[in-house]
Amino acid sequence: MPDCIFCKIVKGEIPSNKLYEDEQVLAFLDIGPLSEGHSLVIPKDHFERFDQCPPDTLAKVIAAANKLAKAVAAATECDGYNVLCNTGRAAGQAVDHVHFHIIPRNQGDGLFDGWPAGEYEPGKAEKVADTIRKNL
Ligand code: AMP
Ligand code: ZN
Repeated sequence: MPDCIFCKIVKGEIPSNKLYEDEQVLAFLDIGPLSEGHSLVIPKDHFERFDQCPPDTLAKVIAAANKLAKAVAAATECDGYNVLCNTGRAAGQAVDHVHFHIIPRNQGDGLFDGWPAGEYEPGKAEKVADTIRKNL
């Protein structure tokens, strides 16, 4: 994808702080970190959304994220981390090349404060689950 910023990083057309690379996967530091060590893991091939990325490729990306998360956690001595894949503008996806964030977290850091959990009306959860199953 010629206009994709992450494809340009893969091709070396724009610089990045690379952390890990293999045939199918690249990981690098996020340029706008939410915390020190905030990293991104991407497939080298261009897929826009999580659900458009073939499972085999995704497996390689997740395996790299698994390895990288350990290194990021050890390097930053963080208390925990979030692994996020924003998908679609409504979910905050700004770069349309599927990517996983690894975001180091520390107690009281205030990132993502608030988790506005709701609840289902009686009978609604079963209907929602049924609709999802029918779409598998
Ligand atoms: P998202 O909102 O999930 O699409 O996240 C896109 C992420 O890409 C943001 O956290 C940006 O800071 C990051 N980003 C954008 N351009 C670059 C770049 N050239 N190098 C590294 N990270 C980038
Ligand atoms: Zn791309």
